[in-house]
Amino acid sequence: MANDPRPPTTTDAGIGVPSDEHSLTVGPDGPILLHDHYLIEQMAQFNRERVPERQPHAKGSGGFGHFEVTQDVSQWTKAAVFQPGTTTDVIARFSTVAGERGSPDTWRDPRGFALKFYTSEGNYDMVGNNTPVFFVRDPMKFQHFIRSQKRRQDSGLRDHDMQWDFWTLSPESAHQVTWLMGDRGIPKTWRHMNGYTSHTYLWVNEGGERFWVKYHFKTDQGIEFLTQDEADRMAGEDADYHRRDLFEALRGGDHPTWTMKVQVMPFEDAADYRFNPFDLTKVWPHGDYPLHEVGTLRLTDNAVDFHSQIEQAAFQPNNLVPGIGVSPDKMLLGRVFAYADAHRARIGANYQQLPVNKPQCPVHSYSKDGAMRYDLATDPVYAPNSYGGPAADPERFPYVEKWDADGEFIHAAYTKRAEDDDFGQPGTMVREVLDDAARDRLVDNVVGHLSDGVSPAVLERAFDYWRNVDRGVGDRIAAEFSEG
Ligand code: NDP
Repeated sequence: MANDPRPPTTTDAGIGVPSDEHSLTVGPDGPILLHDHYLIEQMAQFNRERVPERQPHAKGSGGFGHFEVTQDVSQWTKAAVFQPGTTTDVIARFSTVAGERGSPDTWRDPRGFALKFYTSEGNYDMVGNNTPVFFVRDPMKFQHFIRSQKRRQDSGLRDHDMQWDFWTLSPESAHQVTWLMGDRGIPKTWRHMNGYTSHTYLWVNEGGERFWVKYHFKTDQGIEFLTQDEADRMAGEDADYHRRDLFEALRGGDHPTWTMKVQVMPFEDAADYRFNPFDLTKVWPHGDYPLHEVGTLRLTDNAVDFHSQIEQAAFQPNNLVPGIGVSPDKMLLGRVFAYADAHRARIGANYQQLPVNKPQCPVHSYSKDGAMRYDLATDPVYAPNSYGGPAADPERFPYVEKWDADGEFIHAAYTKRAEDDDFGQPGTMVREVLDDAARDRLVDNVVGHLSDGVSPAVLERAFDYWRNVDRGVGDRIAAEFSEG
């Protein structure tokens, strides 16, 4: 071993060990000794290797890269990350929603598109999807929606009856379900799909002017998809197909890019726009709010340690930097709480100190203690104090990312406006965006999905749901279903 270039194996305490292969026994045939502490450390660590999987978005992967600003959008936001000439390190994570940590990548499902920008002003996270809309508009329904997509309580099986039951009782889902049942419901790879914030955010410029924005990350690889047959086959041949594709692309130096664009709505437009622009089940038509280029997202590097850097990566839409704020989008307001809470529950209170989550700028918070605390907290541990502890600076960090609200406390959807219906935009997609072949595939996909254990009462509702999206498409679905 004298010339062996490899480092010697040690225990977690750094103590060299005599064997990687054999436990300590009484003679070669005798029992194992309890004081073989290295064997015990190996077994005990192994038993504790897993953290709970994410509730939704359990199966995924990602990579590292950077975001480079290519255009000047300083007229709309003062955020340092989006100022001309700025390049910021980024981690991206892509995922399916409903499946578990080992589930096939090619199940029909929206894909998560989460980004963390390690900006000079603190971490800025964007928790988007590869779709510009979502199934529900109120966080009260989110938990119920996800349960309906996961598994039954009795059999532990996924259940299309449960999915269509929820969807057809929730007509606001029609836009996203139309999207999901179409070609983009199974992207060919994560490199071949767009990302969207879906949510509306508030941007504030240096002069204090406010704008509502939606982000679009357009794939520069081109949109490509798998048909249902291709996806079903791939689920059996390579359940990790999307994960493998990204890993191999990055390893081979084939760096995927996305062009980030924004739709910008003047602050005052929101008050009387023809539908509520904060409703997450709606897009803003490009004709009303065209896309403006901001910059390029490029992924270049794989994780070295999947668990530490991908599984423990924690994205949370409350990580907003000066010049970017939340909007009255109720789903966004719910997620601002839910994500950070999920990380605390899943990986512990001090998850933001893990290298993958650690900001690249100084942190001066008053958080301390808790399990697995790593950074040293110092006195004074309270504010205000007269001993030189951090002090909030309202002049440097004024709260300008805000809007007004008043009214009675109430449980209700958004106030209805002229075009606040649930079926208009999916109808437009079916009639005006899809071509004949894409429409045929949509019908086939829906019929196939409905043919798997959906009960008669839910089926009838599903046919009406599709007739509400588009009379012709609904009638075709009903007819093709009956023909079997
Ligand atoms: P546009 O004709 O300007 O936009 C249509 C958009 O549809 C395209 O830009 C493309 O989005 C997207 N698209 C194309 N093929 C598919 C598909 N198979 N599945 C899902 N989306 C597809 O019209 P509008 O902006 O007025 O929107 C019309 C309809 O298009 C909307 O009701 C909505 O359903 C859908 N749509 C609109 C988007 C928006 O932000 N305005 C975004 C995506 C869909 P992209 O360029 O992002 O690839």
